[in-house]
Amino acid sequence: MLIEHINRRLLELDAAALRRRLRTAESPCAPLQSFEGELGGAPLLAFCSNDYLGLAAHPALAEAMAEGARRWGTGSGASHLVSGHMRPHAQVEALVERWFAPHIPNARALLMGSGYEANLALMTALGDGSATLFCDKLNHASLIDGARLADAEVKRYAHGALDVLERQLAACATPVKLIVTDAVFSMDGDIADLPALLKLAEAHDAWLILDDAHGLGVLGASGHGSLEHFKLRSERLISMGTLGKAAGVSGAFVAAHPAVIEWLVQRARSFIYTTAMSPAVAHTVLASLALIESAEGRERRAHLQGLIGQLRTGLQALVDQKPGWTLGESCTGIQPLIVGDNETALKLSAALRQRGIYVPAMRPPTVPVGTARLRITLSAAHTAGQVQRLLDALAQALEETR
Ligand SMILES: *Cc1c(COP(=O)(O)O)cnc(C)c1O
Repeated sequence: MLIEHINRRLLELDAAALRRRLRTAESPCAPLQSFEGELGGAPLLAFCSNDYLGLAAHPALAEAMAEGARRWGTGSGASHLVSGHMRPHAQVEALVERWFAPHIPNARALLMGSGYEANLALMTALGDGSATLFCDKLNHASLIDGARLADAEVKRYAHGALDVLERQLAACATPVKLIVTDAVFSMDGDIADLPALLKLAEAHDAWLILDDAHGLGVLGASGHGSLEHFKLRSERLISMGTLGKAAGVSGAFVAAHPAVIEWLVQRARSFIYTTAMSPAVAHTVLASLALIESAEGRERRAHLQGLIGQLRTGLQALVDQKPGWTLGESCTGIQPLIVGDNETALKLSAALRQRGIYVPAMRPPTVPVGTARLRITLSAAHTAGQVQRLLDALAQALEETR
């Protein structure tokens, strides 16, 4: 019965062209990457990863991983509260605390296995029966799932609609109020108006939880993320950063007021009931964070910004010739080319694929109906020549879809 049921549901997915496929990469994460069954193994020019600084296959970090494994072993052996919390984990937390000290007074940090886990921890431990969670409708799936699991009341506001949020805050009767937002939205690349959100938090005795998965490493002069970008400081800020995107490794952290961190340690089930991150990985994260704020990190951010400018100039010229297409308002590594209907997005993605370029098409429900798009992501590992190749291929594809 189960298998028949599943097979029936799978056929429905096929019929709606929503069946997804796991593709196996045959080479490390890099601008040129080969996939099983694609182009006979010849590498594709890929604009799809979140490896914004090009650190995922950086030789110095691979070396740090080997060194960490030799020094600490490969496994932590237990959850954090038993015996899995090792010196490399504590070192990462100390470094993150230094990064956030200018933004959150007495900031403390807690390292976790993934951003998904960290968001479940925040939503469920802070979002108890005394709380209301105020969530932007375009928040990441992990924040949405965390809100579903939480005992708190949940209010959602249209993307960036701070007037709606303000009315919801004013009408709220629960003692604890938590505003929850992506700092950089994952499908659009736009940055939340964090200064205005913090003002609202202060005016309504609320706290601001921000998910900086796409800002950490990319934004701010030292790569410390959106809080550095906006130069914000408040004890009401709770920042979640992920370590598998720009940082090129894996894991996540929360930086916040000491009482918030202590409560997560006591109550966050997704932190308590999971084996601590491998100490070799934590050791690598330490090397990655050091690299992000080094001169090399700065150069990588500057190169990335140059590529973003080049791509946007080129895309704008294309969009100007094609009524109905728009370029998202984004200054980050995520650059959406919004074409509207699903068919066009798929066709465009396929046309690029024929030219050896991989840019994924994003369709509902991942993005709102009528805003299907190519989600182009850039990395500091790309060259200006590769960005030009993408623009040329898009111009040809545009000719074909006229
Ligand atoms: C990727 C992502 C996450 C999840 O982080 P992982 O470390 O990959 O689990 C959370 N929030 C946002 C906005 C993301 O893009």
